[in-house]
Amino acid sequence: MVEPPSILVEELVKRFGSFTAVDRVSFRIAGGEIFGLLGPNGSGKSTIIRMLCGLLTPTAGRASVVGFNVAKEPEEVRRHIGYMSQKFSLYDDLRVIENLEFFAGLYGVKGTLFKERIGWALEMAGLKGSEALLTGELAGGWKQRLALGCAVLHRPRVVFLDEPTAGVDPLSRRRFWELIHQMSADGVTVLVTTHYMDEAEYCNRLALIDAGRIVAGGSPSEIKRTAIRGDLLLVECAPLGRGLELIKRQPGVLDAAVFGAALHVVVTAAERARIELAAALASAGVEASRIEPIAPSLEDAFVALTGGHPGGSERAQ
Ligand code: ADP
Ligand code: MG
Repeated sequence: MVEPPSILVEELVKRFGSFTAVDRVSFRIAGGEIFGLLGPNGSGKSTIIRMLCGLLTPTAGRASVVGFNVAKEPEEVRRHIGYMSQKFSLYDDLRVIENLEFFAGLYGVKGTLFKERIGWALEMAGLKGSEALLTGELAGGWKQRLALGCAVLHRPRVVFLDEPTAGVDPLSRRRFWELIHQMSADGVTVLVTTHYMDEAEYCNRLALIDAGRIVAGGSPSEIKRTAIRGDLLLVECAPLGRGLELIKRQPGVLDAAVFGAALHVVVTAAERARIELAAALASAGVEASRIEPIAPSLEDAFVALTGGHPGGSERAQ
């Protein structure tokens, strides 16, 4: 028998007045899977999570979490999930241990389990020996680990992590992701939102979301392979802006965008474009220091599908 999905979302819609924040979104997530929602600010990620946690009623469509309908059985849903909200609230003026005790109480973890689960969370977060520290004094990455520990004290089967590592340095992010993979290995389903590319790469499967709509889905490698219709070239040139304008007008160029201090150019055929672009730039007096084929990143895929960078500017409201 095929296992029922841990999370099932069908044509989910959320409107605020006349504004559609989530527009007919569908996906399914299997038990133990790490599923990422990748999209820029304002694309509807938190709104989806809030509906799946039973905190916000969908305008239309249907969603269930471990078999419970989020609109009709929100209490049941909440008993089975852990939720780390975008601006998650640990109490800065409480000690590490006091935060854990508070959340254990909140989740109804009692009796012999109380000490056991708190011990487990301390161990998992790597905070054993730091029980007495004030939470507000923990560095960013450690606070996030504690917050995750607090969110899973009651051993939920599903955890929702809404931009759990925003503002955290890349090394701490990596460490945090080791915890997520451990949880997934234990069978916990993880839905995580992010606009960090490195994080998206750690997910088993992703949905790319833009302006409330899912624009692509699949494993990170599937998305990278299919989103770009052509070959990708890295072009370093000066001045960059003039190079971009010129390149956009060349035959065989499908798309071109600025990536950091260089250009990423989608072309129909890499080898031919390399020669032609070098000649075109040279004859216009634009100095090209590098033109070479590169493998597409998730960011390239995102730009190809939406015309914008996921970590970039906010969507107009
Ligand atoms: P993300 O988490 O991807 O940044 P959100 O889900 O928070 O996006 O928001 C999606 C859109 O819905 C944004 O334009 C936001 O301003 C709008 N929005 C979110 N919550 C509300 C609300 N309670 N009332 C009105 N608009 C809202
Ligand atoms: Mg959000």
